[in-house]
Amino acid sequence: MTPLADLLARRIAATGPIRLSDYMAECLLHPDHGYYATRDPLGRGGDFTTAPEISQMFGELLGLALAQTWLDHGAPAPFALAEPGPGRGTLMADIWRATRGVPGFHAAAHIHLIEASPVLRAAQARALPSAPVTWHDTLDTLPDAPLFLVANEFFDALPIRQFTRAGAGWRETVVGLKDGRLTPGQTDAVPLAELAHRLADTRDGEIVETCPAARPAMQAIEARIAARGGAAIIVDYGGWHSLGDTFQAIVNHRFADPFAHPGQADLTAHVDFEALALAAPGLTHGALVTQGDLLQALGIEARAARLAQSLTGAALEQHLAAYRRLTDAAEMGSLFKALALVAPGASLPPGFSPAPPAEALE
Ligand code: SAH
Repeated sequence: MTPLADLLARRIAATGPIRLSDYMAECLLHPDHGYYATRDPLGRGGDFTTAPEISQMFGELLGLALAQTWLDHGAPAPFALAEPGPGRGTLMADIWRATRGVPGFHAAAHIHLIEASPVLRAAQARALPSAPVTWHDTLDTLPDAPLFLVANEFFDALPIRQFTRAGAGWRETVVGLKDGRLTPGQTDAVPLAELAHRLADTRDGEIVETCPAARPAMQAIEARIAARGGAAIIVDYGGWHSLGDTFQAIVNHRFADPFAHPGQADLTAHVDFEALALAAPGLTHGALVTQGDLLQALGIEARAARLAQSLTGAALEQHLAAYRRLTDAAEMGSLFKALALVAPGASLPPGFSPAPPAEALE
C-alpha cells in the first residue's frame, strides 16, 4: 500500500466512501504524497510525455498564433501571457523564444503561470531564466488585463465526478473499501439538475463525467477576456461531449488500475469541451479542431521541413517521428483537440474557424 492509500483507507473507514473527485484531488495534489506535488512526471524518464516535450514546433506554432491574435486585436499593452499547468515550462519557453521577433510583444507581455506543484514551479523557473514571470495558485488571481492564454493538458488533470444513468436519475461513482482495499462503488440513484441536459442524449447504464474545478477556471478566463480582450487556446484530449468512463491512470507510459497506486500514478480524464464553452457563455468560441488539423493550418509542414534541413541521421529520424506523433490521426493528431475562445466580435486565432450551429451554444 502506498502511504496515501493507507491515509485514504483510514479516512474512508472513519467517515465513509468519498467522491471520485476527492480521490483524484488527493492523489494528484496532496501536499506530502500527491503525484504532482512530489515529482516531475514528464518525459522519457517520467510516466508520460506531452506535445511540447515531443517537439519545439508545438510551442512555436501556438506562440505565433497567439502573437498574431494579439496583433489582430490591436496589440493591447500591457497584457497577461498566461498558462495554467505549465509542466516543465517547455511550452512557455518555446512561445517566448518564437515571439521575440514580434514587434512590441515582449515589451507588453508579463508571463503568468498557474501551477500547484512546487517541483514543477522550480522547473518552470529554470526554463524561463530571463523572462518576467509571476506564479499563481489558481486563475482567480490573474491581473485585470487583456489575457492571452494557452493551456495544454491542464484540464485533463482536474478532478472529475462520474455518474451512471439509472432511469431519470444518476448513480455517482465513489471510492470505498473492500477487504481493506480502495475499491470503486456507486451511490443510490438520485435526480441531478446539473445533468438534466444529458437525459436527452444518454441511455440507462451510460456514464457521463463532470469536472467541477473547470468551471471557476473558465469563469476567471471569461471575466478577463470579456472585459479587457484577449484569447484562450485550450488543447487537450477529449471531445465535444463527455460520454463513457474515461478515468485513467498512467504509470511509466502504461495504463494502470487507477485505484491501485494512489499518489504514484498520473490520473486523468478526457476533457468535455462543451462544458468548458458552457462555463464561459460571455465568450465566443471557434469550432473544435483536431490538433493535427490545427498544426497543419498553422504551417507545421513548412516548419518541420525547415528544421529538417539542418538535421541528419538519428536526429532527423527523431524529428520526423515527432512531427508524425503530433499530427498523425493514429497518434495524437485526432484524439487531441483545440478550442479557442475570444470576446464576442473579436477575431479567432489563426487556424480556428467559427463554430458550426451544432456547437453554437446559444
Ligand atoms: N502543460 C504541460 C504539463 C501538463 S501536466 C505540458 O504540456 O507538458 C499537468 C500540469 O498541470 C502540471 O504542471 C501540474 O502540476 C498542473 N496542475 C495539475 N492540477 C493543477 C491544479 N489544480 N492547479 C494548478 N496546476 C495544476
